[in-house]
Amino acid sequence: MLIILLGPPGAGKGTQAEKITGEHNLANISTGDILRSAVKKNSALGRKAKQYMDQGQLVPDELVVEIVKERLRNSGEEDGYLFDGFPRTVEQAIFLEKALPELGKKIDRVISIDVEESELIERLTGRRVCSNCGANYHIKYNPPAVRNVCDKCGGDLYQRDDDTLETVKERLEVYRKQTEPLIEFYEKKDLLSSVDGSKSMEEVYEQINNILEDFQ
Ligand code: ADP
Ligand code: AMP
Repeated sequence: MLIILLGPPGAGKGTQAEKITGEHNLANISTGDILRSAVKKNSALGRKAKQYMDQGQLVPDELVVEIVKERLRNSGEEDGYLFDGFPRTVEQAIFLEKALPELGKKIDRVISIDVEESELIERLTGRRVCSNCGANYHIKYNPPAVRNVCDKCGGDLYQRDDDTLETVKERLEVYRKQTEPLIEFYEKKDLLSSVDGSKSMEEVYEQINNILEDFQ
């Protein structure tokens, strides 16, 4: 099974990806997570990517495509892939389309998570992430039991550098210009399903699960 989660920053892709890959045997491929880990290690890739990420811009396609190639080469025993935050441009989508036949894979479904802008801003500016295991929280919608401490591993929670109001606005603009065209791209290929992302995390998950049932 190969699923793509599409949606603006803050739509809940990472939250849903964690739940889906917890219950289905799918590799969770988040280009954002891979890039953040490269930045943390201060690798050559991380140093190049950081300047774009800090400004809310997309990392250039050539770099992102290399990361995804590497990740696909190193895939393990999973039954398939769940992409979160990739592709983000039509060029990346075309790369994926060309790379998949070699792996004997095809896209089963692209799930667009729809949420309106004011809600996205509130979600992103209130997001907190575990510095140890990467789990996602929200100060209001999904707070940890103990303030700033991860429920799952006890790690410290932090606010991402790009979750400030100014950078969030830039990221939403970048989404509209560079990523939103993918909705039409996949609609034309008859691969798109949409879910109402403004509902609770559980309700969004239920909508996604209903779609996934057709591809088990
Ligand atoms: P994305 O990966 O699409 O950028 P996240 O999954 O990180 O989005 O979610 C952004 C923020 O919104 C997080 O703080 C998360 O806890 C919160 N969130 C996710 N889904 C919902 C939801 N359905 N309702 C309310 N808050 C949510
Ligand atoms: P995310 O964790 O998905 O919100 O991504 C955080 C940041 O990483 C984005 O704002 C981009 O700078 C970069 N990024 C993640 N995925 C991609 C991608 N597929 N293409 C380009 N840049 C990406």
